[in-house]
Amino acid sequence: MAKTRDDKADKAVEYRRYAELTLRHILDAVLITDLANDIVWVNTGFERMFGHRLENIIGLPARGLLDGPETDPDARDKVLRAIEGREVLTVDILHYSATGEPIWVDKTLTPIFDEEGNHTNHMSINRDISKRRKMEEKTREVMANEEQRQHERKLLSQVSEWLYSAKSLEELLKVVQKSMHTLIPESEGQLYIYSNSRDTLDLETSWGDHAPQKHIDAEDCWALRRGRAYSYGTRAIEFPCSHVDGEDTPYFCLPIIAHGETIGLLHLAFSAFDRSIMSRKMVQTFLQQRWELGLLCAEQISLAVANVQLRQELMDQSVRDPLTSLWNRRWFLDAAHKEIGRARRQDNALSLISIDVDHFKKFNDHHGHDAGDIVLREVGALMREVFTPPLAPCRLGGEEFVALLPGLDHAAALEIAETFRIALSELELAYGDGKLPRITASAGVTSYPASGEHVADMLKHADLALYRAKDQGRNRVVSALAGAGQLAAE
Ligand code: GH3
Ligand code: MG
Ligand code: MG
Repeated sequence: MAKTRDDKADKAVEYRRYAELTLRHILDAVLITDLANDIVWVNTGFERMFGHRLENIIGLPARGLLDGPETDPDARDKVLRAIEGREVLTVDILHYSATGEPIWVDKTLTPIFDEEGNHTNHMSINRDISKRRKMEEKTREVMANEEQRQHERKLLSQVSEWLYSAKSLEELLKVVQKSMHTLIPESEGQLYIYSNSRDTLDLETSWGDHAPQKHIDAEDCWALRRGRAYSYGTRAIEFPCSHVDGEDTPYFCLPIIAHGETIGLLHLAFSAFDRSIMSRKMVQTFLQQRWELGLLCAEQISLAVANVQLRQELMDQSVRDPLTSLWNRRWFLDAAHKEIGRARRQDNALSLISIDVDHFKKFNDHHGHDAGDIVLREVGALMREVFTPPLAPCRLGGEEFVALLPGLDHAAALEIAETFRIALSELELAYGDGKLPRITASAGVTSYPASGEHVADMLKHADLALYRAKDQGRNRVVSALAGAGQLAAE
């Protein structure tokens, strides 16, 4: 009997030793407080985790000892309420070590009772979960980033669909303006396209609040000079492009390349973005993400511009006369049909001039077909000079031309036909070393509605007047309208 009691006592001593060893070696921080929540005891793990030694804190209030600037007040209140209410509580809370280092812990509070059942103490067991929190935070960040990327990708694919549907550069620019603002809302930007002279780039569209430069010199841009995209605002040593005002705003210059040739520049600037309140690393991360998106946008815009140009070229080939670059018969028939419809619906003026070069066969016979082609080209160039949009000069074939004149009544049409006739008769044509003899043309003018409701009627009506001009001695303009008669002669 006595032996059993001794055994039990021995075991109890042994177990206590194990418990002490456990408490000394576990990584968790254990804190025992009294009913006033003053510190009674802490284990070695507590001393290691928080850097407070038991002898320095014994008797001090536990409240507030481990809290710091970012400790969640709600979590702290929960702890205090659990202590007052003698409840068991498990909570994640941010604590701080003696040296101010933040430590996320998973805290379990338990009230302690003596053998008679009296509440005597509180025990708090704290497990360091900083690593887990960091991983969770990182995961959240990665997921938020991924979500943002997916959102951007979705927007970008919608945008490229719109870009690809653009039939003209004009339409394309509208899509660019609208979509860039949505895709990269923190930026303002411009799209520049090389002018025909290729020294400067002209502003085609812009978005955001910034008042953009209307033209930029290719020499003033690092991206255009170096032939690759340029970002400003992240490196220790860097120089802003001369076409950019100031040095404070980070920006990207992204060349637009179609069919292997640089044809423009996408400029994105981040002036509303305040670098002073962000760490250098945050600025870099932000700009890096926008950089990648900006490059994708520039690539999509490049492809879309190339697409539009190709479309335009194919369209031009089918509706332009290759010798004079004037609209061809096909375009004329279509456009005249539309204009007649518009004139009828909107009660607009509409006129048509039929023009034929005089004695052109003779000219060809005397000077050769090549000289004849030069004449036709010059006639075309002069027509483009005189009949500017919305007036439309066309070559129907051979040395026969028409000018479709939306908005011009009969008197105005006769006047402009006369202007053209005179200008043509005064044209000096160089050929080889010498000069070609002057050429003339005859013209017949008709106007809607007297001309008839159909393109063929209108053309015939103008041609009848043209034949009269030929009959009356050529180099003259004749009106097709009854009684108008001949307007001018040599
Ligand atoms: P008219 O004053 O009565 O108009 O006399 P014309 O000689 O100009 O009239 P016609 O219609 O008989 O002759 C047109 C000539 O135009 C025939 C052809 O030699 C020439 N021609 C037609 N197409 C071209 C072309 O593309 N290039 C050149 N060089 N000549 C052309
Ligand atoms: Mg002729
Ligand atoms: Mg002819």
